[in-house]
Amino acid sequence: MTATQTGATFEDRNPATGEVIAQVHESTQDDLDRAVRAARTAFDGGKWSQMAASRRAKVINKMASLIAERANDLMLMEVRDNGKAISTAKGEMGAIVDCFEFYAGAATKNYGETMPPPLPTYLANTVREPVGVVGAIIPWNFPLLLASWKVAPALAAGCAVVLKPAPSTPLTAIELGKIALEAGVPEGVLNIVTGSGRELGQWLVEHPLVDKIAFTGSTATGKIVAKTAADTLKRVTLELGGKSPSIVFDDANLEAAVAAAIYGIYYNAGQACEARSRVLVQRAIYDRFVAAFVERARNVRVGNPEDPQTHVGAITMPEQFEKIANYCEIGRSEGARVLLGGERASLDGPNAQGMFWSLTAYEATPQARIAREEIFGPVVTFVPFADEAEAIAIANASEYGLSASVWSENIGRANRVARAIRTGTVAINTPYAVFPGVPFGGYKQSGYGRELGMETMRLYSETKSVLTFIGEKPMNPFGV
Ligand code: NAD
Repeated sequence: MTATQTGATFEDRNPATGEVIAQVHESTQDDLDRAVRAARTAFDGGKWSQMAASRRAKVINKMASLIAERANDLMLMEVRDNGKAISTAKGEMGAIVDCFEFYAGAATKNYGETMPPPLPTYLANTVREPVGVVGAIIPWNFPLLLASWKVAPALAAGCAVVLKPAPSTPLTAIELGKIALEAGVPEGVLNIVTGSGRELGQWLVEHPLVDKIAFTGSTATGKIVAKTAADTLKRVTLELGGKSPSIVFDDANLEAAVAAAIYGIYYNAGQACEARSRVLVQRAIYDRFVAAFVERARNVRVGNPEDPQTHVGAITMPEQFEKIANYCEIGRSEGARVLLGGERASLDGPNAQGMFWSLTAYEATPQARIAREEIFGPVVTFVPFADEAEAIAIANASEYGLSASVWSENIGRANRVARAIRTGTVAINTPYAVFPGVPFGGYKQSGYGRELGMETMRLYSETKSVLTFIGEKPMNPFGV
């Protein structure tokens, strides 16, 4: 691991206290270029890309065990960098270990195929080769978790990686780089570049020695990434924004659906791409459901992220805080009915300077901006519906298509609606549906490509067709 050439740094702050917690290297374009060249050299050298898959698997498993051993330190680092509740970060550490273990297993199962011979004199088969140098760009809401979703399959496939964390949450990515070296990933295979500006990501996408970009972030930036990557025809996968609905029918288990609706939006302070930020409730139970939601949401503890009793921590960035405040203003001006919150949450003591937002809920029409646009904060919008057809129409009237939940005790209806919803994931009677082994990704403007699945291995591989002539007489179509 090497430092930047200029030695320049930028400040990294704890959003829950306002304290500066680290000075982080400010990479220049030259630094980025060095990182990409290191990755290229390591990839082309073949130590990792051509290592037996079973050996790569052992190294990736070792990364998983080092992460598990250091989970407490990593968790606290994430909490101070991001502002999330420690209870949330704890769950993420388990999921990160699971992700590395899953892809350690996948490394030895990235099978090619043998085709029926196209002619009797041929053998035809495919092999999966690593795609090459991967530029991995991640956002700030689940820093280490989302890094693991890219780094683990990329390494399993035999790729070299340049990982660029978000400017506001760079710390755990740096630790991941150290862990990889310690586990036995050869030098140059995993490179971390940090910087405070948007141009670092842009340079990575432009770089001609990068073969693939794996991007997670907003839909607006995803479009810029796709356009930029087109100049060098890089392979691209995009995990983008969402406005995911929970659809609650009048035959749902209300107790479970209310608890899930609360968790589904307020988990990670709503800064989750799959947050269920629209709750569509059938009219017959609408008033009862909303009243229960508001009553039970009052038991959710917003507070000091380092307190294990806290459910919801701080908002990670000042820009994000402003965005949430602005959307609440828009909600008011659109005439949305405030059911809960809608303003800054003030804390005492060490968190007095922190950025906390009160748990917020509105009732609005499906056309309202707060019911259509991604807010990415603890703000949910309730919308009533009459019947199945209307619920499906409202759910699908979105430019996004990441996730959805359906709540019904009628298994036929739940599955019928799940089939009609245009999202990458539909969760029936559960608020949570993100696990290694289960593909995760978007329809429509929530992106393309899938993470967490076996098919993800394909997205870090090229398929090479190998044809072997086995005939006795040499082929001589010109008869020369
Ligand atoms: P963002 O798009 O602003 O930034 C994401 C990353 O891209 C950051 O590392 C940023 O520095 C970098 N970046 C910025 N401009 C770039 C450019 N021109 N070229 C290349 N890289 C560039 O998003 P954010 O605010 O950090 O994250 C929040 C968004 O991420 C939300 O929209 C959320 O829904 C989405 N998200 C999606 C998923 C998913 O799996 N679908 C998961 C988490 C977050």
